[in-house]
Amino acid sequence: MTAIATLGSHCSLQVLKGAKDEGLKTILVCEKKREKLYKRFPFIDELIIVDSFKEVLDQKCQSILEENNAVLIPHGTLVAQMSSEEIESIKTPVFGNKWILRWESDREMKEKLMREAKLPMPEPVTEPSKIEKLVIVKRQGAAGGKGYFMAANEEDYNSKRNQLISEGIISKDETLYIQEYAAGVLAYLTFFYSPLREELEFFGVDQRHESDIEGLGRIPADQQLKSNKVPSFNVIGNSPLVLRESLLDEVYTMGENFVEAAKRVVAPGMNGPFCIEGVYDENAKFTSFEFSARIVAGSNIYMDGSPYYSLLFNETMSMGKRIAREIKTAAESGQIDKITT
Ligand code: AMP
Repeated sequence: MTAIATLGSHCSLQVLKGAKDEGLKTILVCEKKREKLYKRFPFIDELIIVDSFKEVLDQKCQSILEENNAVLIPHGTLVAQMSSEEIESIKTPVFGNKWILRWESDREMKEKLMREAKLPMPEPVTEPSKIEKLVIVKRQGAAGGKGYFMAANEEDYNSKRNQLISEGIISKDETLYIQEYAAGVLAYLTFFYSPLREELEFFGVDQRHESDIEGLGRIPADQQLKSNKVPSFNVIGNSPLVLRESLLDEVYTMGENFVEAAKRVVAPGMNGPFCIEGVYDENAKFTSFEFSARIVAGSNIYMDGSPYYSLLFNETMSMGKRIAREIKTAAESGQIDKITT
């Protein structure tokens, strides 16, 4: 029998509930401090208690996973807390493509893959002296938007950067990435590509709620002007969104272009769930500033199924259950190698 394993954070509840619904054994790699929380959920069969998630790399943890014939589901916490080298060294089969996670973490590689996929992107700004329009300044990796800031020119950039350094939020030698700010309606588009069926599914859309940039909108302008706090983009939660139906065709095209580009650039391609993140402007033109090459936490909204999946499946289908279904189908037909790396 195959088991599904993941790290206790991000979207682990949804992933393991979906696996249980598909009749698979569920294993959670759980930090000691969260044991009490995760013990509340009866669909988790086994907890592997660790002090730090990095222990997933240790022989002890990997042997338990191997004994259980486990497939590890990567999510944002794995990407945020481990280096690409560490992720690539995991011996347990990883669902999807662990090699593409490096392309998610490294800004230059990310930009390259997005260009290859012909995704319309905000222009990168190579140095602070070249800031001519409003920009957003980002940190490397899946930092979750913490420590990001907006700047209108070089002087503004320097003063905010210095402030964040003095507050200990960013470090002095950190390489920051500057990108033009794209204004509009936020839309995070989640897909699932099945290498077994060779088919792309559009799962749904969510919006992220980020603090404290969103809080700014609740403060009158005169109070905003008096504040010298640099607002951050720290994700707090997500909410659902459906798109105008006329936008769907383009959404599928973007997803398909991404899958094709990933196949060319990083074998075996973009298998499993992924997300293209961006904004729609006043002409309903999409600009993408980011992708995630694995399940995103925005899919937690749809634990009882998403509107778009209810069009494709005649049953309740969460992303966690979709992943488990793919693994189960692959296991039953001897194709686990096709869906893991
Ligand atoms: P990221 O780490 O790229 O996902 O960015 C975190 C958050 O910053 C996003 O969820 C957006 O709210 C915001 N953001 C990032 N890039 C841009 C951009 N180019 N224009 C506008 N907002 C952005």
